[in-house]
Amino acid sequence: MTEQRMRAWRVQTPGPVAGGPLRAVREPLPEPGDGELLVRVLACGVCRTDLHVAEGDLPVHRRHVVPGHEVVAEVIGGDLGSHAVGDRVGIPWLRSTCGRCRYCLRGDENLCPASTYTGWDADGGYAEFATVPADFALPLPSGYDPQTLAPLLCAGIIGYRALLRAEVPRGGTLGIYGFGGSAHLTAQVALARGSRVHVMTRGEEAQRLALDLGASSAQGAYDAPPEPLDSAILFAPAGELVPTALEALDAGGTLALAGIHLTDVPTLNYQRHLFREKTVRSVTANTRRDAREFLTFAGEHRLHVTTTPYPLDRADRALADLSAGRFAGAAVLVP
Ligand SMILES: [Zn+2]
Ligand SMILES: [Zn+2]
Repeated sequence: MTEQRMRAWRVQTPGPVAGGPLRAVREPLPEPGDGELLVRVLACGVCRTDLHVAEGDLPVHRRHVVPGHEVVAEVIGGDLGSHAVGDRVGIPWLRSTCGRCRYCLRGDENLCPASTYTGWDADGGYAEFATVPADFALPLPSGYDPQTLAPLLCAGIIGYRALLRAEVPRGGTLGIYGFGGSAHLTAQVALARGSRVHVMTRGEEAQRLALDLGASSAQGAYDAPPEPLDSAILFAPAGELVPTALEALDAGGTLALAGIHLTDVPTLNYQRHLFREKTVRSVTANTRRDAREFLTFAGEHRLHVTTTPYPLDRADRALADLSAGRFAGAAVLVP
């Protein structure tokens, strides 16, 4: 009997995407370890973090890693735990935590210093098959095809955590700075929960999408919203916008910084930007609880997701197109 093999992409040598850091390989299926599922990949979203892994902006955690952490998959075997063969599961960025440290014990597993990540510390979804710890595989809502679900697994979940961190009061106003993949999903959650949403972003196309989705207003990134904001989320990785967003907050308002990377924040003026109990807070990854809450929400509300499909064989092209901003919405690899 010949051993079954699969197609996958590995980061050969991290470097500029123009130089082709990914290499297509054919190799045996991965072996699930203790407590791990073996899954068949149905779709894998292409996230900007994959670009950071491929280009070497993030230090190498696993040599020749298979990127990809927005994986929609079907369980085909392994150590099933509470899952069953045939279940559809999601494999997100957060792959494991220690479960024992003070952060894990108090419910802040996103801050666990021993956490590992899919497509960085362990092989991800740019492949036909993958493994995932059963405890970290996410149940997926019905009513979506795999291609549509994939972007929810990173952009959607992280945006949801940012929304929680922004603590929008019931019926309150939320300002969203920057309107890419994560922001457009987060706006839909906020709107469905009864918030008024104002979007500050450059680009007429993004502004039009914001209004189409139900935002009350859309204007330039540095423009003032038409009313004071109870809460705001900065999705754009631009620290220059922090003072602008703080000035747009009402007294007692909260600004959540959603990005992993942020350029330097200019000097803040205490009276103008912080006094009257304004709060600034960062957002770091997510917990499994955030993920489950968001995916449950997605099952109850039809989220609008724009995707551009690529065959798995063109993963290198998808990354290059992401780097150059050549497509609308989220790129998704389909084996
Ligand atoms: Zn991601
Ligand atoms: Zn821990």
